[in-house]
Amino acid sequence: METFTFAFDTQAVHAGRGDLRTLGVHALPLDLSTTYPLGAGGLDEATASLEAFADGAATAANPVYARLFNPTVARFETALAALEGTDEAVAFASGMAAMTAVLLAARQDGGHVVVVRPLYGTSDHLLASGLTGFASTFCTDDEIGDALRPDTALVIVETPANPTLDLVDLADVRRQMGTHRAALLVDSTFATPVLQRPAQHGADLVLHSATKYLGGHGDVVAGVVATTAAWGARLRQVRIATGALLHPMGAYLLHRGLATLPLRVRHAQATAQALAAQLAEHPEVEMVRYPGLGTVKNAALVGVQMDGPGAMVSFEVRGGYAAARRMLDRTALFTPAVSLGSVDSLIQHPAGLTHHVVDEAARTATGITPGLLRLSIGLEAAADLWHDLDAALRT
Ligand SMILES: *Cc1c(COP(=O)(O)O)cnc(C)c1O
Repeated sequence: METFTFAFDTQAVHAGRGDLRTLGVHALPLDLSTTYPLGAGGLDEATASLEAFADGAATAANPVYARLFNPTVARFETALAALEGTDEAVAFASGMAAMTAVLLAARQDGGHVVVVRPLYGTSDHLLASGLTGFASTFCTDDEIGDALRPDTALVIVETPANPTLDLVDLADVRRQMGTHRAALLVDSTFATPVLQRPAQHGADLVLHSATKYLGGHGDVVAGVVATTAAWGARLRQVRIATGALLHPMGAYLLHRGLATLPLRVRHAQATAQALAAQLAEHPEVEMVRYPGLGTVKNAALVGVQMDGPGAMVSFEVRGGYAAARRMLDRTALFTPAVSLGSVDSLIQHPAGLTHHVVDEAARTATGITPGLLRLSIGLEAAADLWHDLDAALRT
């Protein structure tokens, strides 16, 4: 890690670019090759490279084939690992492909996972449906210790949680896990490495839907796992065999976007803090969920585990489902759409969209009510966003 000693913001600009001057280029090189010619070492070198990749190596003398290695993707992975403070990172075609790869890689450690609710709707669905062959125990963040079994391979938590913004205390999760050999997977999509670096708090695997803040412009679908060298090798073995690759164009855009990630996240966060406070005072608003207002579980972790409360805000409108549905038709600046973390602001209805696949009783029990709306705050002027929300709430 050539930039490891620099401050976070410096790394965001320079990580994964250490060799560009030697290469004689300034922008990130983009390699779209699907196959690679044999190199100076001929067939023997290519065969040895193939064997190394099959064993999980991050790189080898000859790339051989794009499913085994791509230099543009590897550059992005190096940069993201530097920002998360992990040995390695492994990128995938989507956040769900990344989650699936972790599950496949963990299968040799046992057939059971412990999952803290709430979490992203499709993650919940993947783990509840039995599609992966794992048995899942769903629980709250203080029931992890009791849910562990001898064959538990993974403990899966999401913090901040989508869409309730509840936080999970990772040090406490580790304490509950004690000496159990299960690995801890933390979905840190909502925080980004700007606000939270879970590996410093005991996570073995840090997962991002890079589709969200890391991409930041609504034009890349991707996932990435920041982790140890040992897990990195296991994940690459799965990726090579199953093919859930991140396209190099996506990796190029993600890497380019890392330079502005700290600016984007902190600016959107400042606007979110202001809007959350204004929403809390609004007569048409029942309640606001935002870590910066102290209105979510474990909000005291802001400033301890998280460097800030983030740029996602959820709130309940007065009038339940009917009022929430009307709200989606009435905003002009906020686009009614799922996804999050883009430069522009989005509004969506978790119970009807992102979390519709979740068991209804579990949904309600974890606070995903029919009147709940989720905002992803973008980079527009705060006053314009407030005007848009206020007008939509009043009509
Ligand atoms: C969107 C999302 C995912 C899934 O990622 P995709 O890139 O859509 O596959 C996983 N976790 C969280 C918290 C998300 O918001």
